[in-house]
Amino acid sequence: MRVHVLKSVEVSMARYEELMDLLDSIPGPVSFVASEYIPTFEEDEHEVRKLEDGSKEGLKEVKFPDVVFESRSIMQESISLDKMRLDIEFSYSRPREIDVFKWADIFEKCKEYRRIQDLGDDDFVVLITDNGNEYNWFTGHDLTGKRNLFVQSSGWGFFTEGQSKYPVAYHVVTGVLRYLMVGNLNEITALVHRKAIGCMNDLCIDKKDVMFKMRTGDICPACITRISKRKISPSIVTQLFGIMEATRTRLLFRDRFEVTQQVSRIAIRGIRREIYLIDFGNAQFKFTPLEKTVYFFFLNHPEGVEFNRVQDYYQEMHDIYSELAPTKTSEQIEASVSALCSPLDSSLSEKVSKIRSKIISVVGDRMSEYYIISGENSSPKRIGIDRGLVEFG
Ligand SMILES: [Zn+2]
Repeated sequence: MRVHVLKSVEVSMARYEELMDLLDSIPGPVSFVASEYIPTFEEDEHEVRKLEDGSKEGLKEVKFPDVVFESRSIMQESISLDKMRLDIEFSYSRPREIDVFKWADIFEKCKEYRRIQDLGDDDFVVLITDNGNEYNWFTGHDLTGKRNLFVQSSGWGFFTEGQSKYPVAYHVVTGVLRYLMVGNLNEITALVHRKAIGCMNDLCIDKKDVMFKMRTGDICPACITRISKRKISPSIVTQLFGIMEATRTRLLFRDRFEVTQQVSRIAIRGIRREIYLIDFGNAQFKFTPLEKTVYFFFLNHPEGVEFNRVQDYYQEMHDIYSELAPTKTSEQIEASVSALCSPLDSSLSEKVSKIRSKIISVVGDRMSEYYIISGENSSPKRIGIDRGLVEFG
C-alpha cells in the first residue's frame, strides 16, 4: 500500500525530509512515497484570515457525506449512525495571519497529483500544508470519498521549531488508518470520540487533547474491535502503530530530558554501521560515509582532538573511511581523507557543521549538545556523550 506525501510550497524541504524520515522509521507493507511535485494554490483560491493574539478559532462542523467505499471495503457491516454534530470549540497557538482554503480546493491538488501520476484508487495522497482551511481542522478527509488527506503543519506552537514533525506524522498515520476503519465516510462521525479518552480517534477539542492522545499513542478497545472487524491487514496495523509508538517515545523522552538529563544510548549496527538512538524510538542519525568517518573518529577519541592536529591521525581516518566506502578507489579515498585532514581545507569543519545540524534535527537543541562535535576555539573538539552509552554491534 502506498501513501504519497506531498508538501505545499511554504513547507520547507528540511521539515519535509524530517517528516519523511520519521514516517520511514518503521518498515512494513505501507510505503510512504516522497514526491518532488509541489502543488500551487492560486491567489483567488483563498482568503486571508487575521488572527488576534490569543484569539480562539472555532473548529467548524463537518458533515461527513454518505459515501460507501465499495471497491475497497473488505467487509460491509452496518453501523448504527450516531447523528451527533461536530460543533466543537478549540484553540491552538497560531500565526497572526493565515491563508485559508476550501477543503474542496485542497483536495483538488491531491486529485491533480493522482491524474498526473495516474494513481490507482487504493493509493493514498496526503498533502502537508501550512495553510489553514475553512473548517479549521488540523487534518481532514476528502469528502468525495477519495483516499485524500491533508494535514496542517502550522499552528503547533507548543512544539519547538523542527519538532512539529511529531504531530504531523501522527496525523498522517492516524488519518490513513481512519480511512481503513470505515466502510462509509459518514461512519467517521460515529467513530470519533468527542470526549478525549487518549485514543487516536479522539476529536481533540483543544491542543492538550492532541498532546494527550499522542502521549498515550494508544487506541481504545472499541476502536481495536472495529479494526479487527474490518479485517485490516495485521502487518499494516503493526506498522502504523509502530510509527505512533515511535512518535510517542520520542516525545516523552524529549520532555523527560528536561528533568532527567538522561540521554539516549547510541548503537552502531549493521554492515553500513548505521547510528541508532535506541532509547529515542530508534531514531537514526543519517550521515554520509564521510560524515560517519568524522563522527566515528571523534567517538574513538573521548579526550578530544584539536582540528589542526587531525592530520596526525591520517591513517586512522583512512582506515575508517575505507571500511565505510568499500566501492571507492584508493585514489578517491586518499583524496577525501587528505582533504579532511588538511588544516588548510574546510572539509572537516563543513562535515562537523553538517553533522551538527543533522543531530539537532533529530534530537532538538538541548539534547544535541551530548552528541555533537564541539569545543572552544583552538581547544580539542570532542563528543560529550559518556562512552558507556555507545554500543557497537
Ligand atoms: Zn477509540
